[in-house]
Parts: sequence; structure tokens; C-alpha cells
Amino acid sequence: EQRDPNQPEFQEAVSNFFKTITPVFEKHPEYIKANILARITEPDRAIQFQVPWVDDAGNMQVNRGFRVQFNSAIGPYKGGLRLHPSVNLSIVKFLGFEQIFKNSLTGLPIGGGKGGSDFNPKGKSDNEIMRFCQSFMLELHRHIGLDLDVPAGDIGVGGREIGYLYGMYKRLHGAERGILTGKGLSYGGSLARTEATGYGLLYYTNAMLKENGQELAGKRIVISGAGNVAIYATQKAEEYGAKVLTASDSNGYVYDEAGIDFELLKQIKEVERARISEYANRKAGATYHEGSVWDADIKYDVALPCATQNEINGEQAAKLRANGAIAIAEGANMPSTPDAIADYQANGILYGPAKAANAGGVAVSALEMGQNSRRASDSFETVDGELKDIMETLFANSVAAAKEYGVEGDYLAGANIAGFTKVADAMTAQGW
Ligand code: NDP
Repeated sequence: EQRDPNQPEFQEAVSNFFKTITPVFEKHPEYIKANILARITEPDRAIQFQVPWVDDAGNMQVNRGFRVQFNSAIGPYKGGLRLHPSVNLSIVKFLGFEQIFKNSLTGLPIGGGKGGSDFNPKGKSDNEIMRFCQSFMLELHRHIGLDLDVPAGDIGVGGREIGYLYGMYKRLHGAERGILTGKGLSYGGSLARTEATGYGLLYYTNAMLKENGQELAGKRIVISGAGNVAIYATQKAEEYGAKVLTASDSNGYVYDEAGIDFELLKQIKEVERARISEYANRKAGATYHEGSVWDADIKYDVALPCATQNEINGEQAAKLRANGAIAIAEGANMPSTPDAIADYQANGILYGPAKAANAGGVAVSALEMGQNSRRASDSFETVDGELKDIMETLFANSVAAAKEYGVEGDYLAGANIAGFTKVADAMTAQGW
């Protein structure tokens, strides 16, 4: 708090993390000697830069760009770029910090990083998005590299934006396809990357429910968000035989007792880029409501927050329980406030934390890097199969770590410990 007084999101992420890893230091005094905690909470590098661009009316606009390269103990920095007006150094650092342990948990050789800009993509034309992305890459290109730092997408960054970013990188350095992940399929993208975070979330949720004698089939699910993660979480949940009742954006949510129509959701959000309220205009029986879906009175079994950080507070966690939820798994990064997490844990709600439950996206990004190096393109079934294995293994490793360190059944502590020990071992082995 003294070192970073104006970074509340970063402090929240670090404090949530510290609360769970104390048992590690009793077993590993060498981590204390190597001062791992002080080193792991300080990014290797935090880059901030100006992003000037010209809007359609011919006016010069200026945004702020960031790339935080947090930790490369186990591999090159890897993590998404977020375009949202709320983006600042605190948010990029919280995301980069979480990314270190998430990436470690996947079992793949990737370090942690994150970036983005306070640019607001909402309401911008394709040309404005393109000019912004080109200008962003005009600076970012000097800081990234195949074995150094490989960015991907996040809020506000999907296939369109990655395409524009890659196009500019290529003009500057030639066709190094592995420099970004989440690319289009025609120029080096991986099959199943678009779906990966949402599908991975459901593979994780399924494993967590199974461990506790439950199954997804027949469950009623509330999902927040209507973006990259939420759309494919909806599809996979329905494939498992569960019913998804909601989708949302920052204005409100739609409730569809018949189950969200995945194809319609995809058409409205990915093709037309319209607001979620449009869903209720087109689907008979569906209704639109202003406000947060976490304040709604809906009976359901499983909550999957897939929108943004701190979207569920303590009161909403209590509401979620009153609505009948027995489990929550986080598709978004840090969607639950510390009060909300305390509420789940005090009341026996099965809790799958973000850094484990949403690791599927970065896992497939790492598989995309592998395919680019091999100059190969694996089938959808191959990549999806690897994703499922990774998510199941990651859950099993979290369960085992929790057991080993005396916090059995705590999937948050288990994920933190499993992710942390691998990075701490690598840092210790590599010296100062
Ligand atoms: P998108 O931009 O595709 O979608 C975000 C969705 O969440 C939109 O529906 C958006 O609504 C809504 N949302 C954003 N901010 C808020 C807010 N302040 N309040 C309520 N709703 C909000 O992003 P993604 O789906 O890619 O990312 C969602 C979450 O998942 C983020 O936390 C991200 O870090 C995390 N994540 C994403 C991964 C990926 O592969 N894309 C990987 C791992 C984690 P609106 O249109 O109104 O802004």
C-alpha cells in the first residue's frame, strides 16, 4: 500500500493472493531467503506510452497505452491487451500479476504480462479502430518479441483488433506470426482459440462439480457479460445439458427462461455488435432489465461471472446464495470482491477462482504459439482435446496442492499455491 498508494485493484489482487499462500513459507524457507514475495509483486518492466490517432471527423485524439511485463521466470511474458476507458496502471498491474500464476497453472512455459489502453472502442467506426490499433502497435512493437512478450486479446480486443495490430507489426518487422495470439484463422490463428476461455471455464466447472458429486446436466446457470468469454461459456454449458438463463452488458441483462439462444446471442454480439437489449427484441419470451444480473431474483444453481472485475460484492454474493446457487466459477478476472469471496467460503459455496477457471484462453494461446513455431495448424478436435486435458489437470493440481498444504477443498488457495510454487522454484533456481 505504501509503495503503490493509488492502485486499489492491484492491492486487492496482491492481498487476496497473500492471504492464501502463507502455508508455503513454512515448507519453503528458501523462498523467504530469496525475498520472492517482494520480487514477485514488482513488475520486471511497466511501459506507458502515448497513442495518438485521428478520428473520422479529422480530429487528433490521444490515449494512454500500457504494457506491463510482470514476470518471465518460466517463459516469455504472455497476456492480453484490454481496450476500455477504465484502463489504468493499477488495472493492468492487477491483471498482469494474476496472469503470472494463471499461466504457471496451465503447465505451459509462459510468463505473465498484460497491457491495454483507456481507448473506448464503443461507437467507433472500423476505420477508427484500425487507426488506433496501428498507432498502438507503432509503439508496442519495440517492446514485444517471439521469445520476449506475446500479447493477445481481452476486453474490447477480439479478432478484428488483433488483425489490425498484426497488420502493423508485419509492416514493421515482416511476417512473424507468433508475435500475437488470437489471430484470424487465415493468417496463423489457432482453431478453438475464440472459444477457449468459455469452453475452458465449463471444463473446469464440470470438474469441480464432479469432484463434489454433482454434474452440469440439468443445472440452471446465470452468466454475466456477452463478450468473448460469455458467448462460448453459454454454448458449452448448453452442450453439457445445462440451461443458461441470462446474458448481460454494462447497461443491463436479458433473462430467457427457455435458455439463451446461442446462435442469436452470437449474431447480435459478434456480427452486429449491438447491445444485449436487442436479444429481448428478437426472442419471444425473453425480457430485458436495467442493472446488474447479480441483483436479480432468479432461481439458479451455478453462477458464471464473465464480464469484469469486482462485479459481485458481498451483498450480491449473499443474494446469489439466496437464489439457490451452490457453485461459482469465474470467467472474468477478479469478478468477486474480497467480501464476496469471504461469503462463498464461509457458506460452503464451491468456488472456482479466475486464475484457474479462466486459464483456457491463455492455454490455447500458448498452443497457438506452438503451432506457429511448427508452421502447422492443428484440428479443432486436437486443440479442444488439449484444452480439456489442461483444464482437468489444472483443477486436479489445485486440489492436490490444497491437500498437500493443509487447506483441502479450498480451490483458491490450491490454485494460488500450485501456480506460485512453480514460479518461485524457477526464480530461486535462477538466482538474483
Ligand atoms: P469482451 O469485451 O468481449 O466482453 C466483455 C463483456 O462484459 C461485455 O458484455 C461488456 O459489456 C461486459 N462488461 C465490461 N465491463 C463491464 C462493466 N464494468 N460492468 C458490466 N459489464 C461489463 O471481453 P472478454 O469476454 O474478452 O472478457 C471478459 C472478462 O474475461 C474480463 O475480465 C477478461 O479479463 C476475462 N478474460 C478474458 C479472456 C479472453 O480470452 N478474452 C481470457 C481470460 C479472462 P459492455 O459491452 O457494456 O462493455
